[in-house]
Amino acid sequence: MIGVVAVSHSARLGEAALELALQMVPSGGAQVRVAAGAGTDADGSPVLGTDAVAVAAAIDELAEDCDGVLVLMDLGSAVLSAELALELRASDVPVRLAPAPFVEGLLAAVVSASAGGELDAVAAEAAGALAAKTGQLGDDLASAADAASAAAPDAAPGPAPGADSDAAPGADSRRSAFSRTVRVRNALGIHARPAALIAEASAGAVVRLRRLPDGPEASAASLSRLLVLGARHGDEVELTADGPGAEAALDRVAALFDDGFGEGTSCASASEPAEPPASTRSDPSVSATSAPDPSSTTVAPGAVLRGRGVSPGVVSAPVVLLGAPLVEPDGAVTVAPADRAAAVSAIEWAAVAVADQLRRRTDAASGESRAILDASRLLASDPELVAEATALVQAKGRTAPRAVWEVGSAHARKLAALGGRMAERVADVLDVRDRIIAEILDVDLPGVPERDEPFVLVARDLAPADTAALDGGNCVALVTEDGGPTSHTAIIARSLGLPAVVAAAGATGIPADSVVLVDGDRGTIEVEPSAEVVEAARAASAVIAFDGRGALADGEVLPLLANVGGAADAETAAAARAEGVGLFRTEFCFLDRADAPSVDEQVAAYRAVLRPFAGCRVVVRTLDAGSDKPLPFTDPQPEENPALGVRGLRLARRSPQLLDDQLRALAAAARQESAHVEVMAPMVATVAEARGFVERCRSAGLERVGVMIETPSAALLAAELFAVVDFVSIGTNDLAQYTMAADRLLGELGDLNDPWQPAVLRLIHAVGQAGRAAGKPVGVCGEAAGDPALAPVLVGCGVTSLSMSSRGLGRVAAALAAVTHEDCRRAAEAACSASGAEEARAAARRVLANPENPLY
Ligand code: PEP
Ligand code: MG
Repeated sequence: MIGVVAVSHSARLGEAALELALQMVPSGGAQVRVAAGAGTDADGSPVLGTDAVAVAAAIDELAEDCDGVLVLMDLGSAVLSAELALELRASDVPVRLAPAPFVEGLLAAVVSASAGGELDAVAAEAAGALAAKTGQLGDDLASAADAASAAAPDAAPGPAPGADSDAAPGADSRRSAFSRTVRVRNALGIHARPAALIAEASAGAVVRLRRLPDGPEASAASLSRLLVLGARHGDEVELTADGPGAEAALDRVAALFDDGFGEGTSCASASEPAEPPASTRSDPSVSATSAPDPSSTTVAPGAVLRGRGVSPGVVSAPVVLLGAPLVEPDGAVTVAPADRAAAVSAIEWAAVAVADQLRRRTDAASGESRAILDASRLLASDPELVAEATALVQAKGRTAPRAVWEVGSAHARKLAALGGRMAERVADVLDVRDRIIAEILDVDLPGVPERDEPFVLVARDLAPADTAALDGGNCVALVTEDGGPTSHTAIIARSLGLPAVVAAAGATGIPADSVVLVDGDRGTIEVEPSAEVVEAARAASAVIAFDGRGALADGEVLPLLANVGGAADAETAAAARAEGVGLFRTEFCFLDRADAPSVDEQVAAYRAVLRPFAGCRVVVRTLDAGSDKPLPFTDPQPEENPALGVRGLRLARRSPQLLDDQLRALAAAARQESAHVEVMAPMVATVAEARGFVERCRSAGLERVGVMIETPSAALLAAELFAVVDFVSIGTNDLAQYTMAADRLLGELGDLNDPWQPAVLRLIHAVGQAGRAAGKPVGVCGEAAGDPALAPVLVGCGVTSLSMSSRGLGRVAAALAAVTHEDCRRAAEAACSASGAEEARAAARRVLANPENPLY
């Protein structure tokens, strides 16, 4: 590792330059010392100057851990001090004084050293650092003012001083010494993480990227410009580079492309870029960036909002709305020319301060939160953001906050226009914009407020930095109007163990401080629930221990199994004494994968789930990709109605190998563990599909094979299906969706998406009777299985096992232990004969009410 000493006349300048440089590398990635100032005067004020002894001490300190030291200096006497320091130092590692610009050189040197560069290479990077600016400004320097006015974000695309040209692709390439064409090979294209990698890899050289054939062009140094390139999987990108270190930088950047930025190189045809799936294209997070809509209707006490439960658990607490967004700074105010330098400096300092705050939070965070915060930090450190805002101040007299607002908003608009993954970055860009403005204005940051009491955070959508800030606070649940199951909110809520509901339309209309009951399993939010409801929910959320044996009052055994999505869930389920696994949603192991997992990887993932259930039944569902669970590696195509499209088993029509590989992996995992593995297919509609699936499973060496009953067609064909499969499991979530023709993601139709709907119950009953006639098991693994009031009805319909989230086991066990099979049969008959969902509930209640039943 090469160490870097920064010699400056001013301690403040030295520290600020260091701070800026360290933004560019991972924490601890570089060894840098600042030797700045000439001590303090009698009043304790810093004295401008340089001190050769301090420089020598800094070199000696670095020499203990480094193989060489590069020294950068600001002005005149700093050079003399550095030269003298070479005489004074005690160490003997090679030391080089760099004839490099102080700030740019320090940035380039730090990045190069962090990347493991040798002393010569680090020195060359530093010396060539000015080339980036020269390349960007070039002949335009003379007309900087004109260019600055063209940089106004709302104006036609054009180069700002220090900014990119969106409009003149190729202009720079004429001056470029090196160029290369690469292809975007990762599934998700150039989103924030790849952009950050490109920025880091190209540091020190003037590298530009242009999306071919006629897309925009961006400087590799600019994270936000790179995002706006809109480069997606399969796109070709021209790389051009100029100046010292250009070829090496091109090699580094090209290697990143070739490697798919470490995200894998999709097996999909590279010439046919995959469109984001329809469900992603219509992802509401695209519009998730604005503040809570002030026109949103106030939600009245007693109302129940429905959304998508993305992180389980039930809590009740007062609502806190996400911190008020900043008011748009006035665009009519003009800064006098004499005050513009101060405004520019306010922007620069604020950007550094925000990057620093985010860096500190990045250091303190871990896992997903860390990666997300790091991407935001890089956005805040983006030199283009500051350069463009500066141009607006200098050329148009915008105030500092207004300039940042305009530049940030323009970047966000461009990202939103690109849609898909790029649009998911909109919230990040606006978050950074607002943080910088708040810093300039010295006002409270927008975002998650701090509270001493537990609270439910409600927002239109949460910026990544907000969700990451929740760790360790008093937030007990999250509710957002936008977002999907793979949004940041969902991912971080799950990793923090906070119950969360997303896509809850109207949630920001819930008045602050209203008490809400959030159910992350069912995806509901009840506003100002009655004391009884809260009490019932409290009781319901209190986990009742399960003794590991489900049975009715008359002794009939009714196995109670767990739904799991991976190893951690499986361990929790085993600890909760689940009698096995009734649904292993294998797609949950690979939601973020751009490349199909290899057979070996799959074997490892499946074994980790089987291991805790040695000797027990584990029902593994093959990948249920599609609809609301698009898996990038399945190459999802845009569809008008994804829920009715190529999802679940239907994927095997397109990618039979994917299914065969999974079955092979499952068979291998089953051989290596002692759980009793059973396999089932999701989204089956015909007997032929079931037969084909069974044949494939058997040829892979899997013995017990079943199908899910999720479509009305499968339910009605149950008798015929039993002729070819060993068991079925009813997915009530989808069965309700398809029976009632009501999108299960649409909160507004929640009353239709109800397993108590008699039409749904009658289909379940038909399946139960077919199972009984065939003498084969009928499970339920949809959410309905975890409803203690419904469980006896399901048993009465002929269901022979129930599979649910681990927390529900004890409660369902208690409900079943209080009823006989005959009670269940009569309750089912009553519920199935009802005319509506509420009537069905009431009818079952009337049958089952008895003093021993804990539910009634
Ligand atoms: C169901 O549809 O009920 C089910 C269990 O499958 P998923 O919720 O994963 O679609
Ligand atoms: Mg389903």
